[in-house]
Amino acid sequence: MNSVIFAEINTVIMEKELQLRSGNKCELCTSEENLSVFEIPKSPMAGADAAIYICNVCKEQIEDEDKTESNHWRCLNDSMWSTVPAVQVMAWRMLNRLKAEGWPQDLLDMMYLDEETAAWAKAGVIEKNENAIIHRDSNGVILEAGDSVVLIKDLKVKGSSMIAKQGTAVRRISLDHENEKFIEGRVDGQQIVIITDFVKKV
Ligand SMILES: [Zn+2]
Repeated sequence: MNSVIFAEINTVIMEKELQLRSGNKCELCTSEENLSVFEIPKSPMAGADAAIYICNVCKEQIEDEDKTESNHWRCLNDSMWSTVPAVQVMAWRMLNRLKAEGWPQDLLDMMYLDEETAAWAKAGVIEKNENAIIHRDSNGVILEAGDSVVLIKDLKVKGSSMIAKQGTAVRRISLDHENEKFIEGRVDGQQIVIITDFVKKV
């Protein structure tokens, strides 16, 4: 019970601290409406240092990538120069999210973050693995583990006398994560490696 009360008191103190720091304006877009505390995800510290005071519009767009309107974030042109590390971090993350638009990348290039703040900012970025291997069937359709395929020609199974017949369905394939041309599946009770060029997803 005591810890709950402490937590509530801390929240109130934090809000007061942030109101003072921000001058009661959104620390990202300077709006004065619907302001509240936003705790920055993946922060190495807690409390006001890891939070910003922002408006509802900013908060909604930060939390929902699909609602991000790039024009709203032109405000970062100014707020990225804030001396508050938490504001710098959020500005950097939003610019990074929008960088494909061009102008956010220009701002990112101009932005200076000290080493610690840069590491904090980057902690929130989900790395997209551009080198990930993608398996495709003979028609170029992407194959995923668990898919079913059919063989589009008779295949001789290496190391045995078995022929896997054209039209054979292979259910619940698995993918070879080293080689985009290889998948594995069970044919006639035997686990075999199949080249993706000879299958069609069903
Ligand atoms: Zn705002």
